[in-house]
Amino acid sequence: MLIRVMYVSQASGGITTTVTSSILETAKAHNAVNGITGVLCQGQDIFIQVLEGERKALNRLLARIFRDSRHKEIEIVLLQEIQDRMFPLWAMAHVNISLDEPMIKLNHPEFDPFTANGAQLYEILVDLLQQSSPIN
Ligand code: FAD
Repeated sequence: MLIRVMYVSQASGGITTTVTSSILETAKAHNAVNGITGVLCQGQDIFIQVLEGERKALNRLLARIFRDSRHKEIEIVLLQEIQDRMFPLWAMAHVNISLDEPMIKLNHPEFDPFTANGAQLYEILVDLLQQSSPIN
């Protein structure tokens, strides 16, 4: 059974290139072995991550991510069973986002990742991914 999970979280310290690189290095290696795909977005001090994979593998990964001291205030905002993956080719793509981005301001003026509903947040993310060049 395939599921998709999206969560938002707050970085514990600043998000530096070193922090991002170490997260992505682990994520790519681990996810490739465990059939997990997705995208990690970061902006200001927040992370928004979408993960897709088999339910068991994804639950094990989430337990580790929840324990990770590099972020806090982790909130799952979307959890759904899926037939197909949105990001089948990305062990963990990465994209920088800015909440001041004109597209977000224009289309989603009240956007706040911690209060937006899951469907809305997912829609914004897909919008953003279409306009940016995720690194995978
Ligand atoms: P260990 O490597 O044993 O680490 C234990 C703890 O040490 C971690 O919880 C963390 O708090 C800390 N730690 C580990 N490495 C560092 C470091 N380089 N610098 C500072 N502290 C560190 N992992 C994936 O496999 N796939 C993902 O998609 C994924 N996405 C993530 C997204 C975010 C926003 C964050 C913060 C982490 C993500 N991780 C991901 C990393 C994940 O949380 C675990 O650190 C990783 O899976 C290794 O798990 P472990 O139990 O072996 O932890």
